[in-house]
Amino acid sequence: MIQIKNLNKSFGDLSVLKDINMKIYESDVVVLVGASGSGKSTVLRCMNFLEKKNSGEILIEGDPIESDTHNLNKIRERVGMVFQHFNLFPHKTALGNVVEAPIQVKSMDKQTAVKEGKELLDKVGLSDKYDVYPSRLSGGEKQRVAIARALAMKPDIMLFDEPTSALDPELVGEVLTTMKTLADEGKTMIVVTHEMGFAREVGNWLFYLHDGCIVEQGPPDEIINAPKAKRTQEFLSKVL
Ligand code: ATP
Ligand code: MG
Repeated sequence: MIQIKNLNKSFGDLSVLKDINMKIYESDVVVLVGASGSGKSTVLRCMNFLEKKNSGEILIEGDPIESDTHNLNKIRERVGMVFQHFNLFPHKTALGNVVEAPIQVKSMDKQTAVKEGKELLDKVGLSDKYDVYPSRLSGGEKQRVAIARALAMKPDIMLFDEPTSALDPELVGEVLTTMKTLADEGKTMIVVTHEMGFAREVGNWLFYLHDGCIVEQGPPDEIINAPKAKRTQEFLSKVL
């Protein structure tokens, strides 16, 4: 289990996260929803230690993780992240993108990395694209390479920050289907998304964030059908 306790984060005078508490159990798909600027990306970035929290605790299996006493690179290997804008290496092929971190960071031998990399690309439906460069891939294909690349490190948890919001509408489905496959296999995931169909079908728990605070949480179906907080009602009336 990953637990976030009283997480606070400010940028200068701007308080962005205010006493955030979350529990993420193994194989959970947690959906994080909220208006622009509510702090969703900052929660993920604090979990991945891309941002330094001001106070609070992040516990993995009960152990509080601190930037001054833990090897954050080792912890980051356990947390895969997929971004809105893919962030692929443009000068590497699809397979090159997937094998890079296992070889460089984990010192995996090239043959094993290539074998596993091809299996991951097969899994995300790109068995015919191993040698293709990102500039020749569609947005949905790029995002599926990015998912395979994150999976190549065999993370304990995958964080997705609006993975489909930069895609043309007809490409959204293929990425959501890939994510659903991972969820069905039991991967623990936190997904920031405005895709309420995905939240309802795949998510087990939804947090609604407003202005750095969790204002509502519960099973996605319940919240989407009958939001209790005024903020959640207003937001859902716009996206549904
Ligand atoms: P969006 O839906 O637009 O992606 P979000 O919910 O992910 O929004 P965050 O990116 O977490 O929101 O930002 C929360 C607040 O923190 C915003 O007011 C933003 O301007 C501010 N913020 C984020 N990163 C920084 C930074 N590096 N320096 C200063 N302020 C920042
Ligand atoms: Mg964001």
